[in-house]
Amino acid sequence: MTAAAWLGSIFSPKHLVFFALAAAGLALAWRRRAGLGPRVAVLAASFILLGGVAGLLIPGLSGPLGMHPSPMCCLNKLIAFAWLKGRLAIPLAVGLGVMLALTVLFRKSFCGWACPLGSFQELLHMFPAQPKLANLPFRVTNGVRAALFAVFVVGLLGFGTITYDSFNGFESLHWALDGRGLAVLAVIAVASLVYFRPYCYLVCPIGLVTWAAEPLALLGVQKDEKACDGCKDCLSQVPCPSLDGIVAGATGWTADCTSCGRCLEACPKEALRLGAKGWMRRTLRELARASFRC
Ligand code: SF4
Ligand code: SF4
Repeated sequence: MTAAAWLGSIFSPKHLVFFALAAAGLALAWRRRAGLGPRVAVLAASFILLGGVAGLLIPGLSGPLGMHPSPMCCLNKLIAFAWLKGRLAIPLAVGLGVMLALTVLFRKSFCGWACPLGSFQELLHMFPAQPKLANLPFRVTNGVRAALFAVFVVGLLGFGTITYDSFNGFESLHWALDGRGLAVLAVIAVASLVYFRPYCYLVCPIGLVTWAAEPLALLGVQKDEKACDGCKDCLSQVPCPSLDGIVAGATGWTADCTSCGRCLEACPKEALRLGAKGWMRRTLRELARASFRC
């Protein structure tokens, strides 16, 4: 096999689409007043292009943009292959690597803008259906998500089964329209109307792993201490559980932030912005000074 053919077998055009959608979404978030229409357009593009819909409409796209391997399978099947068959499934590892690269580059930008199931949930939550339920404490939702991952590990190591298979929402986006796929999708859809990203915060192992990688992120939402007067207007207008920690100045592992930028639009003092972390800004400044002196 030539090098080009090998690269073609492990990288897929959809990886480029991941980056393009994340870049488009982050550019909107950066502008602060991008508005609802463009946000919906990027999320809908993610769902249509990467959620198997484009492949249904244009069969030629079902291969290069198809759901296989899905984000969730890139993790659970990667671990299952390694445990059960003793080998590294390189295309799955590459898929996971691409998602983690986007997470580390810009805080959870894969989940925020490129994941079709994340976009599906976020779009449905924008519907004015009432009531909208308050977020459960993050330690509770993350505990459920981590417990499901522990059950998966025990099921795989002890019984050779992949427990996620019975409620893998990404499988539904193969659009086989079987009973289980439809039921899982229907539950996610109804729950998303009233609760913010239920599958992401309560179930998805990619959500768990990218959350664990978040402290490594180079860029994300930053608060300008001088501009923020503590009015908390932003907190009343965003659906995520992440902003409390950011406004409180917490570091390390806080609730998942998907870099959606809604809090930037909500802050009347423009005290929130997307940008580099303090240590990175200082490093870049030092580098610029050093190269100027040379
Ligand atoms: S947590 Fe899972 S379902 Fe949610 S956006 Fe991330 S990968 Fe997609
Ligand atoms: S803190 Fe919330 S509203 Fe702000 S970018 Fe993160 S997920 Fe979006």
